[in-house]
Amino acid sequence: MTLTRQPENARTRNKATGAAPIRVAADAAGEVPERWRKEVACILITDKEIAIRVAEMSRQIERDFTGRELVVVSLLTGTVMFLADLIRNLSLPLRLDFMGVSSYGAGTESGELVFTKELRISVRGRDVLLVDDILDTGRTMSRVLAKLKALKPRRIRTCVLLNKAARRAEPVEADYVGFDIPDFFVVGYGLDFAERYRNLPFVGVLHPQVYAQGKKKKVEF
Ligand code: 5GP
Ligand code: MG
Repeated sequence: MTLTRQPENARTRNKATGAAPIRVAADAAGEVPERWRKEVACILITDKEIAIRVAEMSRQIERDFTGRELVVVSLLTGTVMFLADLIRNLSLPLRLDFMGVSSYGAGTESGELVFTKELRISVRGRDVLLVDDILDTGRTMSRVLAKLKALKPRRIRTCVLLNKAARRAEPVEADYVGFDIPDFFVVGYGLDFAERYRNLPFVGVLHPQVYAQGKKKKVEF
């Protein structure tokens, strides 16, 4: 499989969220750094594109929450890089907490949802920004939103780096979306496959044989 990303066309941005569209066309994995070429089939979103878009998202959030103090609730573990870049660009007063949510299974299909870490900061009467890495079927987001709403915040806004609209199974959308992407299982910039590849500075797609091997056990190269 060879994949290439097409550059963003600003005119086709999502009107509601401002998300930049990412499309995958024909060939050329040429830009994948040598170090990762055996494992990574293609870069979907470069580190530079991410930096520009995340800074835009921060500015939008700042405008929408002017004069408020935020509680940022981030879902472990895939949000690490996105969260760090997003909040360093926010000059609002904010407090940060994490919720652990795992969909068990080492593959690319989400399984049963388990909460592995609860909030420590109270969100009652607060403005909450819920941050996740990717909105896929929407099961995680809708479960977490239900849980947060029960804690009676003043308002909740949702923010995701990536959105795979094609896979949605629950009626949930995010208020802030970095990029709308096609239905590929992606890794990098915090996102894992079987707990690996979170450290890639870009968002990319692995070679099919890596996905196939990773489901079984450690990937050997
Ligand atoms: P959902 O519950 O919306 O189906 O999935 C959300 C969670 O599944 C995300 O928080 C993420 O952990 C995981 N996920 C969904 N799609 C992808 C993907 O393409 N790559 C990676 N690494 N994780 C994904
Ligand atoms: Mg996740």
